Formats: sequence, C-alpha cells, structure tokens
Amino acid sequence: GIGWGFIGASTIARQWMVKAVRAQVGHDVVAVMSSSLERGRAYADELGIPEAYDSVDALLADPAVDAVYISTTNELHKDQVLAAAAAGKHVLCEKPLALTLQDATEMVAACRTAGVVMGTNHHLRNAATHQAIRAEIDSGVIGDVVALRIFHAVELPSNLQTWRINKPQAGGGVILDIVVHDADTVRFLLGEDPLDVMACAQHGGMAANVEDGSMVIMRMPSGALVQTHESFVVPFAGTGLEVHGTQGSIFARDVMTQRPLGEVELVTAQGRRTLSIEHHDLYAHSLAHFARAMREGGEAAVSGEDGVKSLAVALAVAESASEGRLVRVQYPV
Ligand code: NDP
Repeated sequence: GIGWGFIGASTIARQWMVKAVRAQVGHDVVAVMSSSLERGRAYADELGIPEAYDSVDALLADPAVDAVYISTTNELHKDQVLAAAAAGKHVLCEKPLALTLQDATEMVAACRTAGVVMGTNHHLRNAATHQAIRAEIDSGVIGDVVALRIFHAVELPSNLQTWRINKPQAGGGVILDIVVHDADTVRFLLGEDPLDVMACAQHGGMAANVEDGSMVIMRMPSGALVQTHESFVVPFAGTGLEVHGTQGSIFARDVMTQRPLGEVELVTAQGRRTLSIEHHDLYAHSLAHFARAMREGGEAAVSGEDGVKSLAVALAVAESASEGRLVRVQYPV
C-alpha cells in the first residue's frame, strides 16, 4: 500500500483530501503533522489517522510515509517541499506553491533532482465540467476562441476568515488565493500561457491589509482576451465562465467550485444544447492521477511547473494592480 503523510492539519485536508486518498485502492493517510501536537492528535483521532507529529522531520522519518500532501499556510510550503524531496517522498503541494517565483522554481527543481513526483493541487482542471468545456473548444465547434470570462467571486466562509484576510506574510489576499486557480483554468482551457495582464484590486471590507477583490484582463498569445473576477465578499453572484468563439459560445454555471456540480451549455448556429456531464470528485480525480504517476511515471494532473506558471500569473496581477499598468508575465525558463 501507499502511505500518505499530511503536513498541515488544515480545513481542506479534513474536507476533501483524506477522502480523496482513501478513494485510491491501497492508499491511506498514515500520519499528520501539526505545529501543535495536541491539535494534531485531536485531528488524527477525528479522521482515523494513526500518527500525529509536531515536526516535519519526524513525519518524514516515519517509514510508513511514501508521499506527502502539504496544506499548511503558503509561506511554509517551500521548506516543507524541499525537506520532503530530500527525504525521497513524493509531493502534492497546495497552491500557491510559494510566495515568490524563485522559491517555487527551486521546489520544482528539488523534486526533479530527487526523482519524486510533484503535483500542484489546483482542483478545477480535474472537474468533469472543465474537461468537457476543453473538449468542446478542442473540437473546433465554437471556432476560434476570442474571449474567456471567468466569474469567481464568492464569500469566504467565516471559518476561513483567518490568515487569508489578515496575514500578508502567509500569502493572504484574493490574488494568491483565487487568481492562481483562475490562471490555471485559463491555461488548461485555452492551452496557452497568458502573455500579459492588466488588473485592479479592491478592499471590499473584509480583509484588513490585503486585497479581497480583483478584476483582471489577460492577453493570450493567440490574441484571445480573458477577463476574470475574484472576490471574498460577494455571497450571491454564483460562479461560472463563458467562452466565446467565432462560431459559438459556451456558458457554464457553478463551475468555479470544489464540488462536483455545474452545468455547461453550448450555443451555435445549430441552436442551444446542454452537455451531458458525468460528475466526479475533483480531488479524488487529482489523487488518481498522482497515484498513477507514482506507479508508472509521468506527470501529476497539475504538475509543479503548472504551479509555477499559475503563480507567475498571480504575481504579475499583483504587480499590475499595485502599479496601475500592463505587466508582462515572467515565466522562469
Ligand atoms: P486552514 O486555515 O484550515 O489551515 C492552515 C493551517 O492553519 C493549518 O495547517 C493549521 O496549522 C492551522 N489551523 C487550521 N485550523 C486551525 C485551528 N482551528 N486552530 C489553530 N490553527 C489552525 O487553511 P486551508 O485548509 O483553508 O488552506 C490550507 C492550504 O490549502 C493553503 O495553501 C490554501 O491556499 C490551500 N487550499 C487549496 C484549496 C484547493 O482547492 N486547492 C482549497 C482550500 C485551501 P497546523 O498544521 O500547524 O496545525
């Protein structure tokens, strides 16, 4: 079997990732690391995890741990990934990978050198909805893509109104939290990397010293334009996206979500058609990919390099918003 060590006694691990690991035949979560041993023990008991540790080194020294899932706050990811790679453990790391491109690039290089699989846990390209949208775009049925609009303004749940809204040094703020997901979605759907971005950020009343809303325009190499809206303070907008091509449009509702739901409609000269979608758990799908990469080689569903690129876009967005000008996205070579 494959043993997973969870670094970070987090909400996302509790809500989605323990289940996602256990959905893989022969996989289980064998240990959790929390900075507080007491919290870690309680968390382990609640979720049926055998071991709790209060240091990364102790967790990595556990021979039952083959792979780690890192879901601590964002400033901690880098050192934890480097330690896991040095210990020869496969690494699935939460987004944003790090706070700087240099750190993220170093993390990917360390995993490459160690010969371990590295994945970034962007969930959206694991959704049946997004996969169906990409298949429609690739089929050519909507012609050339001219524009993509992403609606990802939500209300940050009260239990998560912690470091995201009051701790910039932990990588708080809506740009590092949600723009990275939108950037990965854009790259997945359009199959190209944003060239430059123009953005404005806002203080919508929830976050103290970081932005809690953003609107972005991205220019793609093909000439397509992308528009995205992210927020922590908009409870009733609903999420979605639209892809507009020269021959048709795709309208997707409720698709910028962790849950396996949402509807996708295609409109062309032939009329309006709802795509039939077989939903599956996004995180279990990501884990299945990761398990295959561990077994047979190959990449995770979202690789370390993909995580570097989504961070590169988000950092360009932050720079554009703070300086009020168009910013070229810097992808490390
Ligand atoms: P949480 O705030 O739930 O957890 C982050 C850290 O905060 C934990 O590692 C834990 O530290 C500490 N913590 C959590 N709950 C408590 C508590 N009740 N009391 C004291 N400390 C606590 O963060 P999230 O789960 O929301 O996010 C974790 C990471 O996952 C981030 O990198 C985030 O960006 C990413 N994320 C990704 C999502 C996706 O869909 N890909 C969705 C949500 C988050 P310790 O481990 O030391 O106990």
